[in-house]
Amino acid sequence: MTFKLSTFALTTMALSVSVLLSAPAHAAPDAALLRAAQAAQPAVIVSLKDMVALESGTMDAPGLTRMADYVQARLQALGGQVERRKASSGNGDILIARHSGTGKRKFMLIAHMDTIYAPGTLQTQPIKQDGNRLYGPGIADDKGGIAVVLHTLQILKAAGWKDYAQLTVVFNGDEESSSNGSGATIAALAAEHEVVLSYEPTAAKAVAKVEGVLLSAAGTGTATLTVQGRSSHAGAAPDEGRNALIEMAHQVLQTADIAKTIPGAQLNWTQAESGKVRNQIPDQASASADVRLTATDAAAKLQAALDEKAKAHRVNETRVSYVVQTGRPPYVGDARTRELAAKAQAIYAELDDRPLYLHPSTGAGTDAGYASMSGKAAVLESMGLAGWGYHARDEYIEIDSIVPRLYLSARLLMQLAQEAP
Ligand SMILES: [Zn+2]
Repeated sequence: MTFKLSTFALTTMALSVSVLLSAPAHAAPDAALLRAAQAAQPAVIVSLKDMVALESGTMDAPGLTRMADYVQARLQALGGQVERRKASSGNGDILIARHSGTGKRKFMLIAHMDTIYAPGTLQTQPIKQDGNRLYGPGIADDKGGIAVVLHTLQILKAAGWKDYAQLTVVFNGDEESSSNGSGATIAALAAEHEVVLSYEPTAAKAVAKVEGVLLSAAGTGTATLTVQGRSSHAGAAPDEGRNALIEMAHQVLQTADIAKTIPGAQLNWTQAESGKVRNQIPDQASASADVRLTATDAAAKLQAALDEKAKAHRVNETRVSYVVQTGRPPYVGDARTRELAAKAQAIYAELDDRPLYLHPSTGAGTDAGYASMSGKAAVLESMGLAGWGYHARDEYIEIDSIVPRLYLSARLLMQLAQEAP
């Protein structure tokens, strides 16, 4: 649905008629805010094109610098106090814009400036519009999210809205490489706020039918198995060796299903290495597993279960050890998350009963995990634009999601501001 003024006027007329006949199923929209969101759509498209043209692959330091320069200037124009901080490791600066207002509550908005695409991707996948779709590398994930945040601030500023104690915007540049250099900053800042809204994309109509928000996401991790044995001549004295490869195979088999008994853990062995030459019993072997975590205590439980298995050897006199390392923490939405989601649904319903789907979870990681780590702020994910093709090719956003997403973003903040903390 595209919000043209004429359609809106007709809807309003239809609404007032239905008010006379019976109570409407949903509240009327904030007409001034809706008009502002509609008026902003062309400018959002310009911002999207500007940002997609600045390629910012997560490993491309010069590209990330150009993108951060652009976004920093945009944030400064919106009047916040803008800080540019180096990531604690890897590429990508962190932009933090702080706004102090006249209200009571503390809000934080997050999105990321990096993409998964290598420099030069634009040459084969240029920016183009086809009907309701606007294509470009990174346009949904997550330049659409940055655009929604920038234009939400613009709309609120133009309306003179300052009903917050603190409104903080945090954009990082290493989300696609696990946010190792920005995660701690996001977690620490989130703990100073009451509500964090995260602007990753929501799936397009072609895959999800309706726009949505996300209630939880898996955390990531790795498990590493190392076996130390003893080498010997494989032909002349095999029994003098302690075969690390055999022991590794035994350990991999006996732990293949280990996570199935641990709530919130998933483990899959994916890589292994052993042996340098064919005629030597190998003294070393190692394997690594992909780990996904949806419960905060699952990593520790997995480590304990693996340690227990390390005691049961098949090859005597080998040393076996397991190390579970966590990456991005899981985003575990709580009752406050579901409350935010219900409010978002009610706001969407104001737009001609537009539905909003609550996605229970995803296997992909998100910085909402860092934001929810301390448990202090209520966190809601997927406030960005509707789109698809992310982490694939021919990525696009749906133009008709721009107005409802701007309306949702601004209206939710305005509503939350009026509630007692
Ligand atoms: Zn993303």
